[in-house]
Amino acid sequence: MPQLPLAHPFDDDKLREECGVYGVIGVADAANFVALGLHALQHRGQEAGGIVSHDPVTGFQSVRRFGYVRDNFTKASLMETLPGQLAIGHVRYSTAGSKGQTAIRDVQPFFGEFSMGGAALAHNGNITNALALRRELIEHGSIFQSSSDSECIIHLMARSFQKTIPERMKDALRRVEGAFSVVAMTRTKLIGVRDPLGVRPLVLGRVGEGWVLSSETCALDIIGAEFVRDVDPGEMVVISADGGVESFRPFRPASPRFCIFEHVYFSRPDSILGGRSVYETRRQIGVELAREAPVEADLVCPVPDSGTPAAIGFSHESGIPYGMGIIRNQYMGRTFIEPTEQIRNMGVRLKLNVNRALIAGKRVILVDDSVVRGTTSRKIKEMILDAGAREVHFRIASPPTAWPCFYGVDTPEREKLLASRMNEDEMRAHLGVDSLKFISLEGLYRAVGASEGRNAACPQYCDACFSGEYPVAPSDMIDKGFRTKAAE
Ligand code: SF4
Repeated sequence: MPQLPLAHPFDDDKLREECGVYGVIGVADAANFVALGLHALQHRGQEAGGIVSHDPVTGFQSVRRFGYVRDNFTKASLMETLPGQLAIGHVRYSTAGSKGQTAIRDVQPFFGEFSMGGAALAHNGNITNALALRRELIEHGSIFQSSSDSECIIHLMARSFQKTIPERMKDALRRVEGAFSVVAMTRTKLIGVRDPLGVRPLVLGRVGEGWVLSSETCALDIIGAEFVRDVDPGEMVVISADGGVESFRPFRPASPRFCIFEHVYFSRPDSILGGRSVYETRRQIGVELAREAPVEADLVCPVPDSGTPAAIGFSHESGIPYGMGIIRNQYMGRTFIEPTEQIRNMGVRLKLNVNRALIAGKRVILVDDSVVRGTTSRKIKEMILDAGAREVHFRIASPPTAWPCFYGVDTPEREKLLASRMNEDEMRAHLGVDSLKFISLEGLYRAVGASEGRNAACPQYCDACFSGEYPVAPSDMIDKGFRTKAAE
């Protein structure tokens, strides 16, 4: 469906993405490895995916498709069209409003032809000054092909006077504000960049004689790659076909602000983030939660799957038995990323079912990762009571989500977030549960390993969706009238 180039990127019918990026250099049939990597990153984006490869004989080749990686990039006939020892890929998810309206031209990687050769680029995050940049670029003659904020990077590169593509990328990214983990490729190089705050993850791995860049370590494991290190916040790595890795620091130094919600929910529990096991962090969140918000009960149940490690930690710390009181149908998507409220409501029963034999007659503690609109939590509470539970207590493994994310995560507008309208007791009454407690921001910081807690003057993580303190001003949104906490 055609989309207006100057429409605002945060309107309901526009794109907001939570994405996964991946790249491989120095191994035969690199695109096959990229397809496997994207499959392991599918939880980061399920609407569409794309792969670009390069081979000296065939040049750049590109395939972009809607749907799951497994439904597209497993066909031999298709993968044969992506030859070469260098390839990058992207999986994406778009906002509720844009679901079903996204054009294939919005699917990454994006490609640009420059005087020194072509380059393809895949972006995870969100550019908070994209609207202003887009306006400026269009005024100066750029012709946009998509409605994605990420395309600004390609046009900024085209306007740079630098002689090499990595230098042009540095120029372009210095103009960009917000969150970005970028994986890009030229004919001979694989490039990875993280924004100065390192909001989104990006790791470097080794596979045989080749190298891998990935959003998460779980996607290294799937191809038997060895984790080497995180790409640092503000770092650009340029990897050559001969295996050489160069590191650059193109941005002004800044204190890192990694997304703390990656630890709570987005990343897979078998990934390692910043040297910490995501599973172990989530288990520790449950321990902290049990200390902060104890309650007498008979059973600790996770809301599967993302509440599971925290429920295990809660049970261990409280001594209350753990049980799978809710069973998840493994073949449904995650409710947080369902497209409309109506479908979201229906989706709960399709996705989750209560284990009546375990629940009946018990006082149940339900451990979930977050409360966003609250619609899912209400449905789950009803299902648990219908199954004969005597009491329902919610324990939430994140603080109240009261502010939208502008750094690449699909969250509703502020007024649709339950915690923006109600305090904890009002939310408890609205959900109709016997008790409701969220982990404190301090408790969450302790769980992710910040033993000294949150440094209020300069928090070590981005926690804006809980605190309302945005580490990068969402300038496009402010222009549109969004009021930050500081402005309220
Ligand atoms: S606002 Fe929340 S979800 Fe977005 S980057 Fe910050 S912590 Fe992560």
